[in-house]
Amino acid sequence: MQKLVKGIHDFQSTVFPSHADLFGRLSRGQSPSVLFITCSDSRIVPNMITQTDPGDLFLIRNAGNIVPPFGAANLGGEAATIEYAIEALNVKDVIICGHSRCGAMAGLLDPASLTTLPTVADWLKNAEATRRIIRDKYQHLSGDALLTATVEENVLVQLENLRTHPAVASRIKQGKLGLHGWVYKLETGRVFAYQAVEAEFLPIEQVPAEPAPPARLTADRSI
Ligand SMILES: [Zn+2]
Repeated sequence: MQKLVKGIHDFQSTVFPSHADLFGRLSRGQSPSVLFITCSDSRIVPNMITQTDPGDLFLIRNAGNIVPPFGAANLGGEAATIEYAIEALNVKDVIICGHSRCGAMAGLLDPASLTTLPTVADWLKNAEATRRIIRDKYQHLSGDALLTATVEENVLVQLENLRTHPAVASRIKQGKLGLHGWVYKLETGRVFAYQAVEAEFLPIEQVPAEPAPPARLTADRSI
């Protein structure tokens, strides 16, 4: 805790005053252009990975970057947050970002490891489609390769779940919302984006730039 308290002190004494304009503007409202859905894993720092500022990303985080399908019993707060991001904040893009070495996906592959984690096991039922795809399609893989395939397939499964939400389906139909599947590699800091044409995850730097960048970039990494 001491590290956090010292950090707050440093933030208030140096970082906040040096970005007075930004925080002043944010105190009057937010208009993030992106809903960023990722894992709770402490090694994923969305604003750092994307070099975006406070106010740029509306976030959902949970174990396994999961989006329960609309109407599921285990909705949690995800459905309300998605609806708010799209209907109230009018975000233009939704990114689901999985990551390498994901503990939740490892648990999905090894249900026996979840016997003392019944709530996690229950939550991961929202990724049952992922588990079955892996069982049926990736029997030839093991170890890291199997986990990587699971992380990638889960991003695609959760994108499908996302489409079941009425606000999402409606905006997509109107051409007003973009959906993106990413995987962040902890080991290298690289991000891979799903390309529907190639049906695979490719380094994001190889992905054609979109007409409008989803988030403002900044060179200042202190906030
Ligand atoms: Zn994870």
